[in-house]
Amino acid sequence: MTNRYSNRSKLSQAINDQPISSVALIMGDQLHAGHSWYKSTQDERLFVLMEMRQETDYVVHHRQKILAFFSAMRHFADALTTAGHRVLYLQLDAPDNTQSLTENLNWIVEQTTAKDVHLQQPDEYRVDQQLQQWAETANCAVHWHDSEHFLTQRDVLDRWFSGKSNTIMEHFYRRMRKETGYLMTVDGKPEGGQWNYDKENREKLPRDHDIPQPLCFANDVSVIDTMLERCEVKTMGHAEPRKLIWPVTRSQARELLSFFIENMLIHFGRYQDAMTTDGWSLYHARVSFALNTKMITPREVVDKAIEYWRSHQDTVSLAQIEGFVRQIIGWREYVRAIYWQRMPDYESVNHFNHNRELPDFYWTANTKMACLQHSINQSLDYAYAHHIQRLMVTGNFALLIGAHPDFVDRWYLGIYIDALQWVELPNTRGMSQYADGGVLATKPYISSGSYIQKMSHYCNDCHYQVQRKVGEKACPFNSLYWHFIDRHFDELSRNPRMALITKQWEKRADADKKELIQQANHYLESLEDL
Ligand SMILES: Cc1cc2nc3c(=O)[nH]c(=O)nc-3n(C[C@H](O)[C@H](O)[C@H](O)COP(=O)(O)OP(=O)(O)OC[C@H]3O[C@@H](n4cnc5c(N)ncnc54)[C@H](O)[C@@H]3O)c2cc1C
Ligand code: SF4
Repeated sequence: MTNRYSNRSKLSQAINDQPISSVALIMGDQLHAGHSWYKSTQDERLFVLMEMRQETDYVVHHRQKILAFFSAMRHFADALTTAGHRVLYLQLDAPDNTQSLTENLNWIVEQTTAKDVHLQQPDEYRVDQQLQQWAETANCAVHWHDSEHFLTQRDVLDRWFSGKSNTIMEHFYRRMRKETGYLMTVDGKPEGGQWNYDKENREKLPRDHDIPQPLCFANDVSVIDTMLERCEVKTMGHAEPRKLIWPVTRSQARELLSFFIENMLIHFGRYQDAMTTDGWSLYHARVSFALNTKMITPREVVDKAIEYWRSHQDTVSLAQIEGFVRQIIGWREYVRAIYWQRMPDYESVNHFNHNRELPDFYWTANTKMACLQHSINQSLDYAYAHHIQRLMVTGNFALLIGAHPDFVDRWYLGIYIDALQWVELPNTRGMSQYADGGVLATKPYISSGSYIQKMSHYCNDCHYQVQRKVGEKACPFNSLYWHFIDRHFDELSRNPRMALITKQWEKRADADKKELIQQANHYLESLEDL
């Protein structure tokens, strides 16, 4: 068994008084069983995992997120021990736990007299800085290692596109296809002759369509839940600690991946943007937590999906597999590259100088707007919403009302099971809030109610009427959309992708404009009541 260290106060007990010459740190998002560190066992190396208040408290997290991370870490520690490695696992409630990563490291180095500490490159800037600073004064030699997870390095954008101030995802993606050979023919052409089959995807879900039930696990994490209670860790959202639905071991992560490939890939791209009250994850993979904790690797995800597609081309079209591969080798690697290229400035950009707080219903789902109510409710219930709910419902609304990106970031970083800053920040601040002024997106992702109606079943059951722009029960997205266009008119009219819309606004009669702006102002003054 792992020396899970909760109530014994002597580290020597945990390590059985055997000499330790090196310590290797494993962060909660570094649960990569295939890492070269574990190829052989070394008697004098101690692997260390720590639960810490520094990580539970840097933002208010969804309860399921903390439960899933700690449970996955504990399982990983046990698996290492079973494989013959020496492991120290510091629980959140261990008396000697200083709750700080670097203070714990100092304490462990001192107690073990280890001469060397091995670190995997962290994915979050905050942790990277903390460890870099610690390494400068540490009382031991510090050795850095690649996490061996991603397909690209942090500085890939500078290496591939040096000198170009802006690199769009599509260029990055094509280069990734060429570099990896994924979905490429032997003569170096994209499979099927096209790079991107997006136009064949993105359909609305038919009303009578039966979506397969998602695979949910029933992991008992009540011991961790009780510990969180005892330690008074502040969380948001709901959890059933005896039935945590998220994968917490590598074998569960692989099972979830296989389930997706065999049952969901068939319609992945087609209904990727669809929204419905009949289900909460539709044909999405729900592998982001497993990927972001590194329980599975992007390479195995893509290899398995392509292998399945190759032998099932009669049922799974090229458009479906291409759409999926693009998310993993395109978007996921791309946002990471943007993050490392742009940090630390990226976390404070606020292009539109927005400063409003998010309404309370982001934490309660207590709103009459059916789209927001459903998207937020399921986020509170499952710590999950799919991409279009995040982008075109909660993100869209936050941008239209002019919410400060700090508040928006904090909400996204807390609520989602997969939220780690390297992937959350570019998606939220960049893609969804356009706070970077167009680094990641070529135009702000805003829409009126008509897009939500086109892609969802929400509007039929809403208190508001999607066709109405002004007056009683007018859909708030409509007037807020035009209010946004009006207040950023000068900038938007210079963007070729927004030209049509800004021209439409320009041509409107002044009386119409006035009515729309008044309606929007009324809604902005009564956001909590919407
Ligand atoms: C405002 C906003 C915030 C987001 N925050 C996060 C976050 O904190 N963590 C996170 O992992 N993703 C985030 N995303 C991206 C995306 O929404 C999630 O990766 C996806 O919803 C996870 O669910 P899934 O595994 O079912 O994904 P699927 O739709 O099945 O896609 C498969 C995989 O592709 C990858 N992927 C797809 N889109 C993106 C993207 N835009 N960026 C990076 N990877 C992508 C993910 O690894 C995902 O698991 C955010 C998107 C938006 C618009
Ligand atoms: S009518 Fe407007 S507020 Fe209601 S669900 Fe549709 S888009 Fe959302």
